[in-house]
Amino acid sequence: MMKPCAIPEPPRPPAGAADGPARGGVLVRLSEVCKVFGSAENPVQALRRVTFEILQGEYLSIMGPSGSGKTTLFNMIGALDRCTSGTVEIGGVRLNGLRDGELAFFRGRHIGYVFQSYNLLASMTALANVALPAVLAGEDPRAAEERAEAMLVRVGLAHRLRHRPDELSGGQQQRVAIARALVNRPTIVLADEPTGNLDLQTGEEIIALLGEFARELGVTVITATHDYKMLKASDRIVWMKDGAIDRVERAADVRIDEGGMDAAAAPAGGRA
Ligand code: ADP
Ligand code: MG
Repeated sequence: MMKPCAIPEPPRPPAGAADGPARGGVLVRLSEVCKVFGSAENPVQALRRVTFEILQGEYLSIMGPSGSGKTTLFNMIGALDRCTSGTVEIGGVRLNGLRDGELAFFRGRHIGYVFQSYNLLASMTALANVALPAVLAGEDPRAAEERAEAMLVRVGLAHRLRHRPDELSGGQQQRVAIARALVNRPTIVLADEPTGNLDLQTGEEIIALLGEFARELGVTVITATHDYKMLKASDRIVWMKDGAIDRVERAADVRIDEGGMDAAAAPAGGRA
């Protein structure tokens, strides 16, 4: 259910094709995606024929051990890198066919990013960090700041608007990063190991916040993690192994106990 939201809407550029799919329709379509790094003599197959679909409004977790290809897959969906073969389609736009400038525009318009290390600008206040993507997208600075403030209130930082990152805890910095990732109301927010630097309780709070806030705004969430606690917030889980999809499960079908996953649900190869 969408809650009524006091956060002012960002101005919308003329409709891009990725505005197309209705809630619950297919938003991202990956088809036989391969990514090879390295030289011809020493190729590293980071992704092997990855094929799957992500629905609009879904919260998807990508799980897998270190080196299984999570970040590489993210960079394909986030239009940060190009696949070696196969196709990536978001909202009916084939990213393979875009030129570099078009890809950059697509990123700015449709993708928000949350990183493990927060990546806030150290010299700027929380408010300025969150307003920046809106200003860069051409919004009036006053309007951008007004929306940034409402976003920061929503993530529980009403009392920290004028603080700089080094005056904030890790959890607070990640809240700022979530507000920043969502300020332009992207189509997708990509969160690569967003709880990697946080303690357990803070990590759970951050994941719950990301899930709830994204749902309110109708934003699709894709996180990469090797942290089982993250699964609670997800709709589906994609298990990666050696650059390929091992299996896809609905989170409701995965049992999580205090010690981790039960034996039936544990990924082949054990815990990451
Ligand atoms: P994960 O995020 O699951 O830890 P990655 O996607 O970062 O995994 O890496 C998948 C594989 O691709 C690893 O074997 C890694 O060493 C390799 N790889 C990733 N990026 C590069 C790169 N820029 N150059 C060469 N190899 C890379
Ligand atoms: Mg990674």
